[in-house]
Amino acid sequence: RIVSAAPESSREEALERALRPKLLDDYVGQSKAREQLEIFIGAARKRREALDHVLLFGPPGLGKTTLSHIIAAELGVNLRQTSGPVLEKPKDLAAILTGLEKNDVLFIDEIHRLSPVVEEILYPALEDYQIDIMIGEGPAARSIKLDLQPFTLVGATTRAGMLTNPLRDRFGIVARLEFYTPAELQRIVTRSAGLLNAPIDADGALEIARRSRGTPRIANRLLRRVRDYAEVKSDGRIVAGVADKALAMLDVDPQGFDLMDRKFLEAVVHRFDGGPVGLENVAAAIGEEAGTIEDVIEPYLIQQGFLQRTPRGRVATLAAYRHLGVAPPPGSKG
Ligand code: ADP
Repeated sequence: RIVSAAPESSREEALERALRPKLLDDYVGQSKAREQLEIFIGAARKRREALDHVLLFGPPGLGKTTLSHIIAAELGVNLRQTSGPVLEKPKDLAAILTGLEKNDVLFIDEIHRLSPVVEEILYPALEDYQIDIMIGEGPAARSIKLDLQPFTLVGATTRAGMLTNPLRDRFGIVARLEFYTPAELQRIVTRSAGLLNAPIDADGALEIARRSRGTPRIANRLLRRVRDYAEVKSDGRIVAGVADKALAMLDVDPQGFDLMDRKFLEAVVHRFDGGPVGLENVAAAIGEEAGTIEDVIEPYLIQQGFLQRTPRGRVATLAAYRHLGVAPPPGSKG
């Protein structure tokens, strides 16, 4: 499976770290988010204050973690990184919060998965840089207030809709990350190839870029696999023809869809007559979790115009029929 919600292994994680741009100037694309951040980071630095809390949302692999590191680097402060599911108890979060230094960045990935009791202690921390913690047990237990250093929370989520309202309201800066254009991904692939010492030409980089589902993580992953292919099957140079053969071998089609994308589209078209069909029904038909379909598979298919989300369910568009080489139902529009 090529598209996944997370790095596939610790080795891949190490490679990702190595390929991560470190400053805003090297961060390709996302001009809207970048422009906002440039201004607010500049202002915070000038005033020597903590940056407002930042919420980053968008599908996996678009650069949320990377951006959080860049924010800390641009502010010249430390970054502490954790994630929603890891913070099981209020004291887990309290320990991190009390350890922060002035204006530090705390990055919480998958922030929509914070437990309610943990979220509860986050509110006063975000608002007044204070937390209430319980000391002792039973009747002798009492709550004390602790002052924290001013800090910036950077929260990341694949689904902004799953955040509770009180939490969402506490972010001063909200940035939605978009899929990258082929030209942007071409720049990322070219830069990564340079860092990996892999010889590549412009067309080779563009071929990988066009077939990476608008996602830098996938572009970097495909680049490494195409490089292996080029080394074994040809002279090591990544040119368009070699990239095309390697990607075909990896079951990435000319549109950049992988096996899962096609399985999903085929199910909607063949088993449910093109829809409308409920998410749970397609999920059961292809044996994939509804959450994964919603976070990972659908956003790109929708953005590319192959799928529509309607109040009555998912609908395959004419482009989807055409892509699968299937005649569309008579009278259909897409
Ligand atoms: P997310 O946290 O949204 O899942 P990451 O920040 O981990 O995504 O990004 C995945 C990989 O993609 C990183 O290793 C990084 O090298 C690359 N990447 C992401 N965004 C960019 C970008 N704007 N420019 C260059 N590389 C990027």
